[in-house]
Amino acid sequence: VVSIKNLHKSFGDVEVLKGIDMDIKKGEVVAILGPSGSGKTTFLRCLNFLETADKGIVEIGGQRVDCQDKGKQQKKKIIELRRNTAMVFQNYNLFSHRTLIENVMEGLVVVHKMDKTEAYDKSKKMLERVGLGERINYYPHMISGGQKQRASMARALVLNPYVILFDEPTSALDPELIGEVLDTMKQIADEGITMIVVTHEMLFARDVADRVIFMDKGVIVEQGTSKQIFTQPKEERTKKFLSRFM
Ligand code: ATP
Repeated sequence: VVSIKNLHKSFGDVEVLKGIDMDIKKGEVVAILGPSGSGKTTFLRCLNFLETADKGIVEIGGQRVDCQDKGKQQKKKIIELRRNTAMVFQNYNLFSHRTLIENVMEGLVVVHKMDKTEAYDKSKKMLERVGLGERINYYPHMISGGQKQRASMARALVLNPYVILFDEPTSALDPELIGEVLDTMKQIADEGITMIVVTHEMLFARDVADRVIFMDKGVIVEQGTSKQIFTQPKEERTKKFLSRFM
């Protein structure tokens, strides 16, 4: 479903991604770990063109984009590729002046041009699925951070994307709210949804992810099944990083 080839990205003189390759199968849950500044968030943002990589190829759900392409079709291809993805942000990115159901409906109505009644029904079901059925008419400021993050997962899920990109979804949460968000993520993973998750939650990576990728200084240092990475890391940098958490 996802195929990334030789992705490069610099900000000024700083080369943040130095040639990343990745292939992800349908239903796979991939956790990306790595020290602060290793390029994890930049990588994720290059997948849905919130940032455009300087070089490389991104293919998601059959839509292939060469980042260096300057052709007339490029904009269209990027819009199409974006439609194949959804993102869950660290800070939720919910519209504060809209209710939860309006937030979830937005993409269906605006991007997918769905009829409002149908979008409402679908969105309501999705909010029920993440345990927010009682709060569909609340505004974001009326609910907890954990509930906001679950609402933003409903907003991503309702679009039925090929892949959901998670950018440190629990980093902004108070510790007591992290569990409910991780539980919802586990539930989504169990439903067979393809997920790429940048995270500092080692337990999620160990217990839920099918594959763990360790990044440092803009390269993939090592990857493997979560069991391999957590019990038999090969590279010194991976060992050193994991030893801080285990
Ligand atoms: P963290 O775990 O702290 O979020 P990360 O691995 O996600 O780190 P990135 O956020 O991708 O790392 O950042 C990698 C490097 O790129 C950092 O040095 C950062 O300062 C730099 N960087 C990221 N975005 C920009 C930008 N828009 N302009 C300039 N530099 C940037």
